[in-house]
Order: sequence, then C-alpha cells, then structure tokens
Amino acid sequence: MQDVNEIINLLKSHSKSDIELITKAFEFSQKAHEGQERFSREPYFIHPFEVAKDLANLQLDSKTIAAALLHDVCEDKSISEKTIKKEFGDETAFLVAGVTKLGQLKYHGAELQIENLRKMFLAMAKDIRVILIRLADRVHNMKTLQYVPEEKQKRIALETLEIYAPLANRLGMGKFKGQLEDLAFQYVYPEEYKKIKEMIKGKYEEKEKDLIKVKYGIEKELRENDIKYFHIDSRVKHLYSLFKKLQRPEINMNIDIVYDLIALRIIVKTIEDCYKVLGIIHKMWKPIPGKIKDYIATPKPNGYQSLHTTVFATGGKITEIQIRTEQMHEEAEYGIAAHWAYAESGKPREGGRFNPRLSWVNQLIEWQKGTKASKDFLETLRIDFFKDRVFCFTPKGDVIDLPEGATTIDFAYSIHSDIGNHASGAIVNNKFVSLDTVMKNGDIIEIQTQKNKKPSAEWLERAKTSLAKKQIRAAMKESGLFKRIIK
Ligand code: MN
Repeated sequence: MQDVNEIINLLKSHSKSDIELITKAFEFSQKAHEGQERFSREPYFIHPFEVAKDLANLQLDSKTIAAALLHDVCEDKSISEKTIKKEFGDETAFLVAGVTKLGQLKYHGAELQIENLRKMFLAMAKDIRVILIRLADRVHNMKTLQYVPEEKQKRIALETLEIYAPLANRLGMGKFKGQLEDLAFQYVYPEEYKKIKEMIKGKYEEKEKDLIKVKYGIEKELRENDIKYFHIDSRVKHLYSLFKKLQRPEINMNIDIVYDLIALRIIVKTIEDCYKVLGIIHKMWKPIPGKIKDYIATPKPNGYQSLHTTVFATGGKITEIQIRTEQMHEEAEYGIAAHWAYAESGKPREGGRFNPRLSWVNQLIEWQKGTKASKDFLETLRIDFFKDRVFCFTPKGDVIDLPEGATTIDFAYSIHSDIGNHASGAIVNNKFVSLDTVMKNGDIIEIQTQKNKKPSAEWLERAKTSLAKKQIRAAMKESGLFKRIIK
C-alpha cells in the first residue's frame, strides 16, 4: 500500500500547508483511481504516486507534487477542471490542466510533425513545471512499457526518443534524458539494442577493474596537493548514447576506441579547484591532444558545465576524466529543476545557485546566447518565435499551427478548403461555439460542415490567415457568378 509519507520524506524542507496539500491530493487521487488498473494489472494509483515521488526527489514545490498526484484524474472526464480548482486552488488546477492537455499530444511518426510538436509542447506548457510533470510521467510509463500492448509500444517509445528525450536534454536534465533514451532504445531499435548488449559484454567489468588503480592514484595526489574536499566516482555511459557514438565515422562501431564507456568523475567545491585538479592530472598522465574540453568557460547550449580530459592513465589505460563542482553536478543531472527547488520560506533560493530574477524562459534564452548552432532543436526554443503563434489540435491530435488571433474559420481552411467552404459551426473543447471564435493554445477543435453552407463576406473580416482569405474570396466569386447565371 502506498503511503504519503514516502513522498513527504523525500522533501528536504516542507511547511505544514505543504503536507496538507500533498496529503489531500494523495487521498483525492487514490479515491479517483479506485478500481482502475494499469496494463500491468497493478492498481492505477501506483502510477501518479511514482511520478510524484520522482518530482519530490527533485525538491519541487508542493503544488507541483500535488499536480503530479492528480495528473491523470481528469483524463476520463469524470472529474472536471472546476472540481480541481475548487479543491486545490488555481495554481495546482492550472498545472493539472496543462499536463492533461499535453497528454493529448500524440506523435505518429511524421517527420513534419516533430518540429511542431516540440514547439507546441513549450508554447502550451507555459509553465516549466507542466513539462517536468510530463517528463516524470513519461519516465514511469516507459519503465512499465513492457505491459503495454505491443502495437502501442513502438509508437510510445518513438515519441519518447523524438520528443521527450530532446526536451529533457534542452532543459539540461541529463538524468531524465538518459533514462528516457535507454528505456526507449530497445523498443525503437531492437536489433541494434541486442547487438550493443552483446558488444559490451564484459567490457564494463574490465574497465571498472582498471579504474580502481587510477582512482586510488588520483586520490593520493589530490590530498598531497592540498585539495581539501573532493569526491570521486565513476559514471557508466548510457547505452543509447553509446549506440550513437559508435555510429560516428571516426569510431566506426569499434568499441575499443570508445574511451568513456566508464568515465571518472571528480567533484570539488570551487571552480578554481576544478582547474587545479585538471593541472594535477595532466602532471600525472599525458592528456590526448584535442580531447581536453573546457565546458566551464564555454558551457554546452543546454547549460552543461564540466572539464573533460582523456589521459593515458596507469598502465597506459586510456581514461576519460570529468571534473566539476557540486553545483555543476546537480545542474547536469537535474537541469532546470535544480533551479526550481524552493527553500523553506516558499521563496526561490537566493544566492549563487538560483537567481530569482531569471524565469525559466529567460534562462533558456541565456543558454541560447552561448551557441551559434543554427539548425539545432534549440532554434525551436526561441520563445518569441512562437509568441505570436497558436497551436491547436484536430480531434485526432494533429497539430495545427496558426498566427495569434486566428479563428476557427482559419482552422477550418488550414485543414482543407472544402471544410472551410462548408463550415457551419465549431466545437471547441467539447463546446459549441460560433465560427469566429478566436483560438487559444491547446484548444481541440472540430469543424462541422453542411453541404449547402457557403462562406460569407463577414468571414473575410474574421479570418486572419491569407490562406483562408484567399479561399473565401475564391468561393464568393464562384457563388456570385452562379447567382447571376440563374437570375
Ligand atoms: Mn500519467
């Protein structure tokens, strides 16, 4: 049986009202999902419970954790957004609604849609916490993907690889990204997965043995050089990331020249210590030229910071070593979530690691400045790029991208001129509305048509896109001509 304390105990700090909110959401969700099962035949509630735990682990605020517990209760429509608002307040309800909406996005493997979907995710989410809940939701769904009907597995795994993992990466959340990629790998590329599993057999164990000596040597040297605080561990390369590396032309599937299968990671207190340690290591062993990377001076576009070097270590064993501060480490693992953690006061943490003036949007823009890559995914993160766009769905979940202020008339024409020309009404989010209704991000729109319906001059004023206007004019001309003939 799940216990709410399992969640609360993960939080480093919490107030009485935090506990109340989380407990209430816990009980509400447990009751709402009563009798429901996962594909694994387990009680459904296990799922939101695990998602909430994952986010509690990231030290997110109590509203996010409550929303995580509630994230699937509105799915089957038996519980309304209104109810959530009444019971849990505006902010939690806003998060739940955002997560529910994002859940309706589906990726069916069309190349063209990837870009739109990624953009839409960000435009719609409005609040980074909505994306964090969705990512944690996806991690748990991927962990239990084996129970999902086979015909669905591949679609979900592909969506994970194409949409969710890149998103996690852009938010600097290395841990989520690695988990998502590795969980999706075997479903999307089953043959390659098997091959790589075969290839690495015994390799990690072998490497680990080599590293014990290297680690010991470094520890001794650092102490002698008066580095007071440090911590050394090793990180094992994620399988999917290894798969991608092996495909590089210079590697050409030769696993023996992948030097970072396991890398040593040295964590120190200050940036000065990072460079000091790098110097000490280079004095101990010769570095391979061209393999020294200073991601502290020049962070990766997603904010990643570290020093990397590859050296001929003890016994000529080529070893990659990564050096970073604690703060860099936390940010590499948890990315934007590391900035989101709240202190006891309920206010954002002050000081070095969190700048309360930076909203996540500004943060992303800052990250972007550090790079010149153009055709990268980060292009799509330019918030002003879709500031004036609206993303809506067809009832099937296809994404339609329109300018701000566009109406259901534009939506109808962007699907097909026939649907535009014969539109008689629209249903937006299950409600009948007039055809000149202005669309909002995330609306689900169904256009009703009647054979004898024709566009009117009024539509010209209501339509925003040139495509719709052009087609309305064409249709009016045609019908005008028709009238004259029968007169
Ligand atoms: Mn879910």
